[in-house]
Amino acid sequence: MKSTRIHLHHYVIVKAPGLLPMLYKICELSLELRIPDRTLRDWLKMGAPYLHDSGDRIWINGREFAHWVEGQRKPKNARKLTASQGYCMHCNKVIELVNPKTIPIQGKLVNIRGSCPECSAIVNRGDRLPSRSTGKTVSSTGQ
Ligand SMILES: [Zn+2]
Repeated sequence: MKSTRIHLHHYVIVKAPGLLPMLYKICELSLELRIPDRTLRDWLKMGAPYLHDSGDRIWINGREFAHWVEGQRKPKNARKLTASQGYCMHCNKVIELVNPKTIPIQGKLVNIRGSCPECSAIVNRGDRLPSRSTGKTVSSTGQ
């Protein structure tokens, strides 16, 4: 089972959707995303889209790159966490939240905050409250 997860810096995730539908040179794009050239070259090797011109120069289409970044953020086998789980950035895995608290943010959005049972770091996860009750809740999906 091979899955190369690429660590995308927060700034890249925020910035990528704003990239223009133009061709960037490696040095331009790395400047734009505030990452070292070398990191960007690594991503190209790992599957980020780019073009080669006849002079052996590399060009990266901003929109295609943004699309790739988007794809990296959503692992195919992302599982839904249960209400009591969260992802610990320190342990790099899903953990059972210790003492989770639900903090309303806005509308149906809530933040669930608890701590990691292994390293005690604070773990936050965003969630969405179920739609306002329509009186019918289908909960029997099993056999
Ligand atoms: Zn942890």
